[in-house]
Amino acid sequence: MKNIRNFCIIAHIDHGKSTLADRLLGHTGTVTAREEQAQLLDNMDLERERGITIKSHAIQMDYIYEGEKYVLNLIDTPGHVDFSYEVSRSIAACEGALLIVDAAQSIQAQTISNLYLALENDLEIIPVLNKVDLPGANPEEVTDDIVDLLGCEAEEVIHASGKTGFGVENILKAIIERVPAPEGNVDEPLQALIFDSVYNSYRGVETYFRVLNGEIKKGQRIKFMATDNEYFADEVGTLKLTQAPKQSIKAGDVGYLITGIKTASEVKVGDTITDAAQPTQNIIDGFEDVKPMVFAGIYPVDTEDYEELRNSMEKLQLNDASLVFAPESSAALGFGFRCGFLGMLHLEIIQERLEREFDMTVITTVPNVSYHAFTNKNPDEVLLVNNPSDLPEPSKLNRVEEPFIKATIITKSDFVGPVMSLCIEKRGQITNQTYLTPERVELTFDMPLAEIVFDFYDRLKTVSKGYASFDYHPIGMQASKLVKVDVLLNGQSVDALSALIHADNAYGIGKKMCEKLRQLIPRQQFDIPIQAAIGAKIISRETVKALRKDVTAKCYGGDISRKRKLLEKQKKGKKRMRQVGNVEIPQEAFMAVLKLN
Ligand code: GDP
Ligand code: MG
Repeated sequence: MKNIRNFCIIAHIDHGKSTLADRLLGHTGTVTAREEQAQLLDNMDLERERGITIKSHAIQMDYIYEGEKYVLNLIDTPGHVDFSYEVSRSIAACEGALLIVDAAQSIQAQTISNLYLALENDLEIIPVLNKVDLPGANPEEVTDDIVDLLGCEAEEVIHASGKTGFGVENILKAIIERVPAPEGNVDEPLQALIFDSVYNSYRGVETYFRVLNGEIKKGQRIKFMATDNEYFADEVGTLKLTQAPKQSIKAGDVGYLITGIKTASEVKVGDTITDAAQPTQNIIDGFEDVKPMVFAGIYPVDTEDYEELRNSMEKLQLNDASLVFAPESSAALGFGFRCGFLGMLHLEIIQERLEREFDMTVITTVPNVSYHAFTNKNPDEVLLVNNPSDLPEPSKLNRVEEPFIKATIITKSDFVGPVMSLCIEKRGQITNQTYLTPERVELTFDMPLAEIVFDFYDRLKTVSKGYASFDYHPIGMQASKLVKVDVLLNGQSVDALSALIHADNAYGIGKKMCEKLRQLIPRQQFDIPIQAAIGAKIISRETVKALRKDVTAKCYGGDISRKRKLLEKQKKGKKRMRQVGNVEIPQEAFMAVLKLN
């Protein structure tokens, strides 16, 4: 165990994490020079194609240093706030972190938020000044910034270049000398942390774990403590470029496990694996069941595809346990599903996967968070509102509560003003402001989660010129003033366009929704009035003007190829349209409420 090192690489995006990881794999001979190139390309391709579903989770390197053999486990972290809980579990499986900083860009927002995560887990931080080969590099200045941030000595900062390979040897040396060897006892009962899992359609769920105590043996009867389910460890092994099966994985080490589990929901990141016959008394703490934060309806574009959509969702759920769904119906869209997601990125990924992997064409409705409503009849009974249509009538409604978050934003001092204004506009209350350095400020706010769903990231990026990192965690429910804003097209209420909005913003948002819908709904032979309403009260109105006759007339009588092109174009445009009454609504209209500025 004294020759094992478990570490992760953390950095702001584009500071060179992947490139440097490839250099480490190359230098330790884990991959050959040719594979080093091939893998780089593969990864980029697949990651672009499949987003987060394909990622390296952990990779083991052997390295001889001063005549001794070391095992270095590089543990990868998923990189987005929707999955931040999983990032923190990956980090919890390490003793050290390489903190990469671009020598031209210096410390950026994500450098700091990732550093905090690592420090919270007591990791040894090895600062690496990367890209020193760049003509625009400022090694002295950026080293000063790093020293300021970490309170370390300038000599501790390793100068490197993932491009040329410069400094890679020093990094490996630092990992061995500075990262503590894992502690743990092989003779104690098995205690292993699940830090990630991935679904493989042939082998079932692959579970990635770090053993803290004891060992996990091939064929052993094991238990997952959060679910209380027992399994046989059909296969255990370490992760080289490919999986290397082993007889056992001992305390301190990292590995994979295959148990024949076919549904992803059985494997929970953060859970503890133990021996079924001789369970450990110590559950690794901090386990959380990950709950969906954002809900939206997903409907097939063609109503006949409903059953096929159900099948696809069931398959998708097998390999993405954080997706939840239940059937619902809409007067406008027919049969579909109300789905729960970890966040907006997760929603986008699910929609994308349904289309790419299952060839479904779907409509996603306005997302909302999960509210608690209480009626006058039963003022103590929580009514979950995951859908605007679940909100009781105003006359029956006693009160509503909405989920709140603690938001942490790190930005440059120049942007404190605009960032604060944005957060206040989003109903946030500032709770703290700390200068990390004279240029960098950390702001914390209590905010309604609903406001994050509605175009917060884009606005934050704009007001901070891209220099703001954002992180949040839920802090429970708080009283809210909520109303349902309905949209009427051609005098008909379209339930799938309804949105739950805070009462103070309802008028403004209703008005903007009408304006946006006017731009998005295609013109037809007749005028289409668009109205927003709260209950029976119309709060805003716009009109999509009828097409002038001669515009369509032009389409006819042209040469045939042009006509065909036009038809094809129309067909493509139709792909994501739903006919509601006699009005065609494009997909963007359902999401319009999210991007009103
Ligand atoms: P990541 O987002 O942190 O994983 O960053 P990547 O490893 O994908 O690198 C981002 C970009 O920086 C890519 O275009 C790399 O080729 C480039 N890059 C990475 N390391 C270096 C380096 O040491 N020197 C130079 N000049 N470019 C680098
Ligand atoms: Mg990368």
